[in-house]
Amino acid sequence: SIAKKEGAVVSFFGQETQKAAHERLLLESHLLDALHQGELAVYFQPLVSVRDKKRLVGAEALLRWHSPELGNVGPDRFIPLAESNGQIIEIGNFVLHEAMKHAAHWCKRSNNPFKIAINISPLQFRERQFVEHIEDLLDLYELPPGTLELEITEGILLQDEHHARASLARLRHLGVQISLDDFGTGYSSLSYLQKYAFDTLKIDRSFISNLEFNEQNRELTRAIIAMAHKLKLNVVAEGVENAFQEAFIQAEECDFAQGYLYGKAIPAEKFAEKFTH
Ligand code: C2E
Ligand code: MG
Ligand code: MG
Ligand code: MG
Repeated sequence: SIAKKEGAVVSFFGQETQKAAHERLLLESHLLDALHQGELAVYFQPLVSVRDKKRLVGAEALLRWHSPELGNVGPDRFIPLAESNGQIIEIGNFVLHEAMKHAAHWCKRSNNPFKIAINISPLQFRERQFVEHIEDLLDLYELPPGTLELEITEGILLQDEHHARASLARLRHLGVQISLDDFGTGYSSLSYLQKYAFDTLKIDRSFISNLEFNEQNRELTRAIIAMAHKLKLNVVAEGVENAFQEAFIQAEECDFAQGYLYGKAIPAEKFAEKFTH
């Protein structure tokens, strides 16, 4: 009967929700110790200049979790969790230390400028002493401030506009660069571009990943690059995987690119081997 079928549907979804809740608990209980057990590692994905023959100009720090019990868990699965339970503060701090330490090392050994991009969570950014903390870390690792680029998302700007604006101004005063990550996926991005002084705009991978099939995405990508340049912002294309996508962003005079075409995120030691001499 229909009633029976409906009952079946309800219990099916009930089980799914339970399964999701179970996974959440499982991840959460393991994540608590992961940092202290050394299961978290910061990897580095190359950032290249589009104009300048794919010359390496820096890296984005990306967190990896290799859990003995759960296998590899992607940041998309555990960062939101850490954000909701507050653990992102400690985890984010670990990322800042690791990324800045390695970047400082690479800067000292290289004659070319090097940029290190680090993702910052809203909760982390809203910490009272966040800007001072960044300043302390720049001193500690003797990293030139212009080398550091903090990647933020609209979420940071949504919550406390006044505080966000003040912190961003202080960071820029230090000489730290600010980029707006995942551009094009959220809402009300355009007004933010006016209100806050960013250095860089990162076009979300979802636009780049189907450029060859999707005329609309080509138009949007073209428009975003042109608009960013009018506002004197640098543009990074994320998720460049093939020659078509590269040729397209090159023709549109995009400044920088990241993607599997140039390299995935790899551990610091491997990155140093491959990219510094
Ligand atoms: P994101 O900041 O937009 O980082 C770029 C993501 O795109 C990374 O995924 C990167 O591995 C992936 N990617 C880059 N090029 C390609 C490509 O050519 N093809 C494909 N398929 N993917 C590509 P990942 O490392 O899984 O990170 C996912 C998200 O997790 C990040 O997105 C970022 O929002 C968050 N995340 C990662 N590490 C951290 C961290 O240390 N702190 C915070 N707060 N968030 C982080
Ligand atoms: Mg990012
Ligand atoms: Mg990000
Ligand atoms: Mg992104």
